[in-house]
Amino acid sequence: MKVVVGHLYPDYLNIYADRGNMAVLARRAAWRNIEFDYRVVGFGDSLRPGEHDLLYIGGGQDREQALVAPDLAGRRAELEEAIEGGAAALAVCGGYQLLGQFYRDRSGAELPGAGIFDHYTVAGERRMIGDVLLECELGPDARGTIAGFENHAGRTTLGSNAVPFGRVVAGFGNDGESGFEGCRRGRALGTYLHGPLLPRNPWLADWLLSQSMARRLGEPPPLAPLRDEIESRAHEVASGRAFSRGGRAN
Ligand code: GLN
Repeated sequence: MKVVVGHLYPDYLNIYADRGNMAVLARRAAWRNIEFDYRVVGFGDSLRPGEHDLLYIGGGQDREQALVAPDLAGRRAELEEAIEGGAAALAVCGGYQLLGQFYRDRSGAELPGAGIFDHYTVAGERRMIGDVLLECELGPDARGTIAGFENHAGRTTLGSNAVPFGRVVAGFGNDGESGFEGCRRGRALGTYLHGPLLPRNPWLADWLLSQSMARRLGEPPPLAPLRDEIESRAHEVASGRAFSRGGRAN
């Protein structure tokens, strides 16, 4: 089996070691003898129809987002075709923001989004920083808590066609008010959670890997269970930190 992954702008959007999410998926694929064909998609690189099974974009500061936004927004049709064609996706924080309608930074400058998710983001005065715990349900056999770390000025508002990624148990989430975090569109997920996200949330890593294989197989295959003692311990520690924090403005 094979998964072709397109990592968008890794040299610009890779804050808080978001690149680690790719390392986790590559290892969890290798442990199951699944070929993990990792490809970088930078300025000027094309997104050929049907090329990628999974698209990934990490987070970044406003400055890096401004450098990337015009090129990314120009890929709306390519990205729409990939998602409609059954590709999975993971977008983290700044990348999540730029896959929406727009991101308005604190200066009031508005960056165009790729319009893949029905949401928009406006930066607020105080940053939302700290450990986060979510309750997520992605399917009958894919539900549980997700732990991560958030650091964003952006407040994301979901539109009427948007489905949240999870419910906030502790932390701020999309805007510190709605009680929801992230966004989901079929096999595409957007979230504020760094960490990186996947090492401490093994069930989500496997859900994403299986969804990435669904385009070629017709449906997401079951994956052989792995020994996840260390990952589960990391989840427990991160969850405990989120509970102790509650969710305070910084
Ligand atoms: N620059 C964006 C914000 O502050 C995203 C930050 C990030 O990716 N951590 O909201």
